[in-house]
Amino acid sequence: MVTEMLASQPNNKLVKPDWIRVKAPTSKEFLNTHELIRKQKLNTVCEEAACPNIGECWKKGHATVMVLGSVCTRACKFCNIATGIPDKLDPHEPDNLANAISQLNLSHVVITSVDRDDLEDGGAGHFVECIEKIRAKSPNTTIEILTPDFLRKEGAIEKIVRAKPDVYNHNIETVPSLYQKIRPGARYFHSLNLLHSVKKLNPHIFTKSGLMVGLGETKEEVLQVMDDLRAAGVDFITIGQYLQPTQNHANVDRFVTPEEFEYYEKIARFKGFLMVSASPLTRSSYHAGDDFIKLRTAREQLLENRPAV
Ligand code: SF4
Repeated sequence: MVTEMLASQPNNKLVKPDWIRVKAPTSKEFLNTHELIRKQKLNTVCEEAACPNIGECWKKGHATVMVLGSVCTRACKFCNIATGIPDKLDPHEPDNLANAISQLNLSHVVITSVDRDDLEDGGAGHFVECIEKIRAKSPNTTIEILTPDFLRKEGAIEKIVRAKPDVYNHNIETVPSLYQKIRPGARYFHSLNLLHSVKKLNPHIFTKSGLMVGLGETKEEVLQVMDDLRAAGVDFITIGQYLQPTQNHANVDRFVTPEEFEYYEKIARFKGFLMVSASPLTRSSYHAGDDFIKLRTAREQLLENRPAV
């Protein structure tokens, strides 16, 4: 699955620290978002991944919609999305999605999907249709997509880049030494290449990637991932605490302290990312709308300060 970084109830022996606890969602606005999502028959990664931020995000009408069904063809050890034989594509999904976004009146939207290794183009065409329908109905809404890795799906990335999403996000998820254990169906250098290709194909599209910490990686490995992402031209990095969705998923190795997240944020800015979000509850789409404005401003400032040639 393309990830939001997850989820809710660790089952190994570590006690969840205070900085991870969140309030149960109860607001009227939360219920309104819930009703609209149900009415348009949409799936959200907020629910499927049991995201701890759902109360806060849905209160503001910010939901991350998951297209291409709710069953994934991969079985990553950190992800709560169901694995199995995927659903048939819903041809009405792009229209339903565009309707929901126009009703929520969002300035920025994040769309993600399950992995669809069974489809010839991995679902790239469906992403394009979603982008086009949203643009037609809500021309002022900026669009962020969080895609699978499209491993062995030739032409998929090019197809999506031609549709010009405002932000192309693809999560690197973890450090290379943990790929075999945590993300066995994926390849670290393929994911880096994807991000690099997006930037080469259209440098105007912002690129974004995220990783989870607390899975057993070392600090040095996290810093190396930052360097690799910068070398691939990535503009925005997100770093959040891994939480174990069920006892069948990878254990939490440790709870990273807020101070360590501050350290990662400082180093990532020093390494040249335009935008950094690093905190225990950071997820790919957490505060994505506000962060998009900061990202755009950061690029404008960078261009203003660059000497003319
Ligand atoms: S952080 Fe992302 S996945 Fe979690 S509730 Fe917010 S929008 Fe949904």
